[in-house]
Amino acid sequence: MKIICIGRNYAEHAKEMNSPVPTEPVVFLKPDTALLRENAPFYYPDFTSDLHHEVELVLKISKAGKHIQPEFANRYYEEIGIGIDFTARDIQMQCKAKGLPWEKAKAFDHSAPVGNFVHKSSLGDLNNIGFHLEINGQKVQQGNTKDLLFNFDVLVAHVSQYFTLKTGDLIFTGTPEGVGPVKRGDKLAAFIGKEEMLHFEIR
Ligand code: MG
Repeated sequence: MKIICIGRNYAEHAKEMNSPVPTEPVVFLKPDTALLRENAPFYYPDFTSDLHHEVELVLKISKAGKHIQPEFANRYYEEIGIGIDFTARDIQMQCKAKGLPWEKAKAFDHSAPVGNFVHKSSLGDLNNIGFHLEINGQKVQQGNTKDLLFNFDVLVAHVSQYFTLKTGDLIFTGTPEGVGPVKRGDKLAAFIGKEEMLHFEIR
């Protein structure tokens, strides 16, 4: 399986990064070795001193497809979950400054913790899903899919023009504003609505 990630999909986050608001989805990949499941602890990597959380809703692809049209895109995902797109911000800044790919900053081992998934029918209007991240009980990020620049169907259609989607692939749909550092000992908990879907510790 592969993990497809969308960057700068909330305008307020693009602003806080001093990045332009994109006119088409910003896409990058993480390998399957980036997955971290079952609320396992995350071990702070040696190569960064500025590891940031980015809480994101995650689509699970339920059917293979390519060149999917937006009006049919909802047939290709059934379940939605939440995850963290961990980012070594110091390394990402160096990569960006040099115009280099940023995989070292984004796609390292366990950089993609994901929680439980729920059927999309339980979430109501997919263009109005609230979600948030707490660290040690304090809310640090909150978002709503009504603020997405490119909604789920547009994303599925867009990425399928480039990558064949396979059952089990994940799409991280972008983070709202409020990204920031984590440190060893922090306890992260991610919620869709009021439902805790993911929790783990930084070690
Ligand atoms: Mg992200």
